[in-house]
Amino acid sequence: MTAGETQTQTQTQTQTDTATATGTEADRFHERLKAFEGRPAATAGRAKDAVNEPMIRHWCEAMGDTSPAYTGPDAIAPPTMLQAWTMGGLSGHTDRSSAYDELLALLDGAGCTSVVATDCEQEYLRPLRPGDTVTFDAVIESVSPRKTTKLGTGHFVTTRMDVRANGAPAGTHRFRILKYAPAAPRGPRPAAPLRPRPVINRDNQGFWDGVRDHKLLIQRCTACATLRFPWLPGCNACSSPDWDTVEASGAGTVFSYVVMHHPPFPAFDPPYAVALVELAEGVRMTSNITGVPYDKVRIGLPVQLEFLRVDDTLELPVFRGEAG
Ligand code: ZN
Repeated sequence: MTAGETQTQTQTQTQTDTATATGTEADRFHERLKAFEGRPAATAGRAKDAVNEPMIRHWCEAMGDTSPAYTGPDAIAPPTMLQAWTMGGLSGHTDRSSAYDELLALLDGAGCTSVVATDCEQEYLRPLRPGDTVTFDAVIESVSPRKTTKLGTGHFVTTRMDVRANGAPAGTHRFRILKYAPAAPRGPRPAAPLRPRPVINRDNQGFWDGVRDHKLLIQRCTACATLRFPWLPGCNACSSPDWDTVEASGAGTVFSYVVMHHPPFPAFDPPYAVALVELAEGVRMTSNITGVPYDKVRIGLPVQLEFLRVDDTLELPVFRGEAG
């Protein structure tokens, strides 16, 4: 090993020690965390609803699970719903223990302010049936030594929830989170983020050539004259691969729209409206609306094509709304 390698290793070690200062201090901190093992995370929890058919039906619809075991007079609840019955909902839990809050606060104080759920394991002891009353207790089962992941450095916290139906053990739900200090971004700070570039390929090259010439080109099937947008290698109406183009007049109306608030994307400044514009020719296109505040965009709003110079290498067709 050369002196240079030794130095690199030392630097790496220093970087992984940002959550706490030194190895021994990390051990001491882990001892403090381990003291929470075995302490309750939730005590005498009670499900807000008894096991019931409507929740089972909604679950099965959401999961696409058509098993006959979950319908009819002898229905049971899908076993994987075990946790669903114990969830606190928007108003939260009233049975969460102070020990769990103290543990999370200790981790927060050490810089592990971020959290991500990593995995869960379930064991089933007996089926749950409509009408069953669900109660539960949860315990802080383990807190891992400090681990460094791609997200950052922190500790895995595993809780085990024992679920009962009408007082009898029904199953166990283990839930693991990583509480971590986010890794600092590496390398030099990037320049101001750019809007994503379009992916140009041989199927849509002609469209972007048109944009370069300030023309909005719609594909037209030369076999059946059906217009299509976005660009595709073949006709959806007759399957013909042959096409030419017509230039859109640029007139259109807002067919539908959403207003983006969250999540934020680099280079975009929410809130902003994303519209589905119906062109006068009949095809629809997703784009931005200019000239009108986001909260004044409406279905049916008349719009007119214009080309927006976004940056040195990107120009996009957008639609100017008529304010007022
Ligand atoms: Zn066709």
